[in-house]
Order: sequence, then C-alpha cells, then structure tokens
Amino acid sequence: MAPDDTAPDDTAPDDTARSESRPPEAPGHAPQEALQEAPGVAALDRLFAAQRAAYRAAPFPSFDERAANLDRIIRVAEANEQRFIKAISADFGNRSAHETVIAEIIVTVSGARLAKKNLKKWMRPRGVPTPLHMLPAKSRLEPQPLGVVGIISPWNYPVQLALAPAVAALAAGNRVLIKPSELTPHTSEVLREAIAAAFDETTCAVVTGGVEVGRAFADIPFDHLLFTGSTAVGMRVAQAAARNLTPVTLELGGKSPAIIDESADLSRATQSIAYGKMLNAGQTCVAPDYVLTPQARLRETVEGIANAARALYPEIDTTDDYTSIVSDRHFERLRALVEEARERGADVVEVGSANALHPQRKLPLTLVVDPPMDLSLMREEIFGPVLPVLSAASREAAVAHVNDGDRPLALYWYGTDETARDRVLHETVSGGVTVNDALWHVAQENLPFGGVGKSGIGVYHGEAGFETFSHLKPVFLQSRFSSGTLLHPPYTDKTDKIISMVRKIL
Ligand code: NAD
Repeated sequence: MAPDDTAPDDTAPDDTARSESRPPEAPGHAPQEALQEAPGVAALDRLFAAQRAAYRAAPFPSFDERAANLDRIIRVAEANEQRFIKAISADFGNRSAHETVIAEIIVTVSGARLAKKNLKKWMRPRGVPTPLHMLPAKSRLEPQPLGVVGIISPWNYPVQLALAPAVAALAAGNRVLIKPSELTPHTSEVLREAIAAAFDETTCAVVTGGVEVGRAFADIPFDHLLFTGSTAVGMRVAQAAARNLTPVTLELGGKSPAIIDESADLSRATQSIAYGKMLNAGQTCVAPDYVLTPQARLRETVEGIANAARALYPEIDTTDDYTSIVSDRHFERLRALVEEARERGADVVEVGSANALHPQRKLPLTLVVDPPMDLSLMREEIFGPVLPVLSAASREAAVAHVNDGDRPLALYWYGTDETARDRVLHETVSGGVTVNDALWHVAQENLPFGGVGKSGIGVYHGEAGFETFSHLKPVFLQSRFSSGTLLHPPYTDKTDKIISMVRKIL
C-alpha cells in the first residue's frame, strides 16, 4: 500500500481557493502573467475545449512540428534550471541542487533528445506480414496521435514527472494538459509560467490547483490520462476515467525490495542501497523500500549500509546535499513509523543525529533491523529514509516474501550467481528490475517504465512512451488483384473448391 496521501497536508496550500487565488511567487522570478490568471477548475474546460478544437483542426502534426515541441521542452528545462533548483528547494525545505540537476533537468532533457533523435523512425508506419491467402494485399500499423492527453504529476520529482510524460505525448503528436502537485506550489508555478512562455496553450498548458482541480481534471474526457502518484489516488483516478472510457496509464508506488544474494559483493550492494535510499531522502517511487539479506550476513549488511551512508553524507547533519522531507505531515508520518518500531522493541540504527536534522525537516537514514511484519513500515510504502533490513532464511524465503506482498514497482537483486538471479527474475513479478545496482533501469530511456498490479498500469519512456500516446492503427491495403471476391455469394461448387484450396494453405 502507498502512504496515506489522501489526508490533508499541513504545509501545502490548505485549500484549492488559496492555491488558485494567490499563486506563490517563484523565487528569483516574478511571473507577472501568472499572477493575472491562475487557471483552476474554471479554466480546465476552456483549455480542454481549446485543445480539442486545435486537435480537430490539425489532427496530425508533422515531424517538424513535433520536433519543435520537443525543443521547447528542452528549453523549458534548461533555461529555467536555476529557477527550478530554487523553487524545488523552497517547496521541500531543502532539496540538493545536484539532485535537481541530475534527476529533474538531465533526465528530462535526455529523454526529449532521445525522442527527437528517434522520432522519424517512430512515426513511420510499421509493416505487418500478410498471410499467403490474403496476398497481394499489404498490412501495416500507422501510429496516430490520440488527441488531447492529460497528465497528473506528484511532488517528489515535480519537474521530471510532469515533463517526461509530456515529452512522450508531444512526440506522439498530441496536445497536453498538465496538473502538477499542490504540495510543490513554487515549482508548479514556475512550470506553469515556463510552459506558458514556451508553448501556445492549445499545444501544451499547465493547470495548477489542489485536490479539487485534480478531481475535476480526472473527470475530463481526455483521449488518454497518465497519472503518477499513490496507489490510493490512482484507483480514484482510474474510476473517474472509466466513466468516460478514457484509457489510463497509472504510474504508482509500492514496496520495492532489494534482495542481497549469498553470492553478492556486500560492500558494493550496501553502497548501492544506501545511495538508492538516500537520494531525495528516500522520496523516490523506485527507492529500495526494504532489504532482504541472508540471515548470516544481517549484521554485516546493516553496518555496510550505515557506513556507506556516512561516506555519502559525511556531514549529514549540516550538508545541503541531503534533502528535506517535503511536508510536516510526511515528516510526522515517517517519525511515527520509526516510533512504532521502537515501541515494539525493534533494533533501530540511525545515521545522522535526529535533533540536528529536525529543524530542517530532515530525517536521519533509519535502519530498522528485522522488524515484526505487522508494523506499519512493513505494510505501507515508506517513501522516506527509513529502511527495514530483513534476514531471509533462504533464497526461496526471499522470493516468497516478495510474492506475499503486492507486485512491486521495482526490484533490485545483488549477486553473481546467474542461476539464482534468473530464478528471482522468473519467479517474481515487478514493474522493472536493476541487477547489481538500484534505480538505473528508470534512467535507461530505451526500457519501458511502469508498474504491474498495484504498482501501476501501462508504461512510458522512449518508444514505449510514444506508443502509449499513439493509436497504432491497423490498416489493410487491399490489392486490385484481390481474390476475395471469389468468396462472394451466390455460393456454388466453385466457392467450395476455393474454400478447400484456402484451407490447404492456411
Ligand atoms: P498523490 O497520489 O497524493 O498525488 C498525485 C497527484 O494527484 C497530485 O497532483 C494530486 O494533486 C493529485 N490528486 C490528488 N487527489 C486526486 C483525485 N482525487 N483525483 C485526481 N487527482 C488527484 O501522490 P504524491 O503524494 O504526490 O506522490 C507520492 C506517490 O507517488 C508515492 O506513492 C510514489 O510511489 C508515487 N510515485 C510513483 C511514480 C512512478 O513513476 N511510478 C513516481 C513518483 C511517485
């Protein structure tokens, strides 16, 4: 299960009206135009109608138009880099500038560049073999824009998770409306203003606002809706979309395991897990949620992760490299998870001093060793720097543990024994996998990214994203030499002869 993301957040704008009527001024920039009109629920219908009309007028943008749109996204990300760094940090309390550059700007730009480079190839009709008895007809799949695409994005990577789906949708020739998270109001405002400056609103626009705007957004009869966020809200979005039969891609969360095999290089595995967990202070959908390690190596694993964390953040109590928890509500939620573990007598190891970190709303990396399975931190997605480290009695027990839970978004496996690796790959079902590291499959744009079961529906990134936002229209091109008319009525002996001939070649 995802954390309870539905409860009101005490640090977020506390209602829709507030976030709509007084958009926060982006640090270092006064978005004058944005202050005059902050679209919320009222503007949604107008923008959707304008985009639909534009789509009807020009339903198949050329390669050049799509490439120009991808260039616009690249410019939005690159030209506003400093504004995004400041805005995200203002929203989080502190967000490492390096993490913003790497995980928001570079990831977005590299995805857009890859799309632009491959776009001609992706746009081409794809040939499909035609069976012998239907020759000399030809068959193909023609990728076609769907129309107007809606994107709902979360707060944890507020630029990347709004723009990367937009890259895929624009490459596929669609119009795009984006609804970013109300938990990152500064960033959402910079995003809105930058998109408004780069795009005609009938091609791409951002609508800011709170949960009310989110709900109204999910009710719009988009031609496709991509939602990134919690499983709980994702279910509601899917229900709203179903009323219009709007197809959805749901990019959700879950408990992603990191499995350390007996054959693993423990030092390498623990370094990778510490990095994967502490990036963005664990507020990453694909962060390792918990670790499964061989019983005999439990202590060594805990010490290895703690030491690796100290090496990554030698001045963890003071450094700006370590990111804050996004809101007081999430901070208290995470502290409550640890408190419950302590009360139940679990062994808790902290890297960083909680008191020094607290004023910045930062949490130490907190390892919880072999906690009871009924604790909240073993039932909910953690989404923060709290890491249960569990001992597995055997390889089979590790696989069984994963399969006892919902299907995770990501799985990490560390080891050198390829038979053991393949067994885990074959016997567990997760959205994606990185072997001998954490997170990296997400950054490999040529691999489709998405969840399975409770962790999501559908994929995007690279060509998979282009296809998600395209209708791959099957087209059958009949030949003037078609023999199909031989099967028309009136049915005679001649028809029976042809049927028996066709049967022989099927
Ligand atoms: P969330 O579900 O609370 O919110 C996501 C978005 O949905 C926000 O823009 C919000 O305003 C909007 N929203 C809220 N209620 C809505 C409703 N009823 N109808 C329509 N929209 C509504 O998620 P969050 O807290 O922003 O993000 C954290 C979650 O997202 C975690 O579970 C994490 O694992 C997941 N996540 C998944 C991915 C992925 O790619 N799979 C990436 C990042 C985060």
